[in-house]
Amino acid sequence: MPNLRRNLAVLAPLLLAAGLAAPASAAPAATGSAAWPPPATAFNHVDTDDPVLFITIDDGWGTEDAAGAQRLLIERRVPVSLFLLPDAYKRDPAYYRTLLANSPARVENHTLTHRDMTTLSEAEQRQEICGARDRQLAAFGDSPQLFRPAGGATYQWPYYNDATRTAAAACGARSVVTWTHDLTTWGEWSPEVPELKSGDIVLLHMGPQLEGDLRRVLAAADEANLTPARLRDYLRNAS
Ligand SMILES: [Zn+2]
Repeated sequence: MPNLRRNLAVLAPLLLAAGLAAPASAAPAATGSAAWPPPATAFNHVDTDDPVLFITIDDGWGTEDAAGAQRLLIERRVPVSLFLLPDAYKRDPAYYRTLLANSPARVENHTLTHRDMTTLSEAEQRQEICGARDRQLAAFGDSPQLFRPAGGATYQWPYYNDATRTAAAACGARSVVTWTHDLTTWGEWSPEVPELKSGDIVLLHMGPQLEGDLRRVLAAADEANLTPARLRDYLRNAS
């Protein structure tokens, strides 16, 4: 043990120096924010020529009426990104654990309490994002890599600001992701599905309408010769 401790003591300044040296060769940081890590990049569409689209499912309430959606995602192995709230998945963690174990779905970060990021300080945003990350790591053993700010009718598009991008990066998220098309059915009303294009990010929500919404989007994707792909894989090296 003494040797290990001494070695770590020698290593620490080297690691620190490497970390401090890195920003010199990186792109200039946003004004007024921490230089490292660089702020997360924001996307509402992925720039790719691959015939793919990305299906994302938000919030996580309503699993009791969504057994059909779970079956569909597992049978068709759809690589959805689930932007879940801790208070939602804690009501039914088994639903999500089954999905993660039997399909390529992944859980990503959607804040701790769904507050409007643009009204919060950078420190408060960091609490929301890092807090949600820690809860997810404990619940699913997998750290989120993408962050989606809370949207909703009363918040203002695009739902994030420069402090969000800095806070997201500090909490381990490479990208801030909104969406190209919100195709969620609310009550009796379904939005019309547009002609889908390569790299589109589709937003849906958990709930009793999800199976029908997934079937509509998957049919439209087939029609456009697009295959669902996993968002975190495409945003791994994007900037
Ligand atoms: Zn939401």
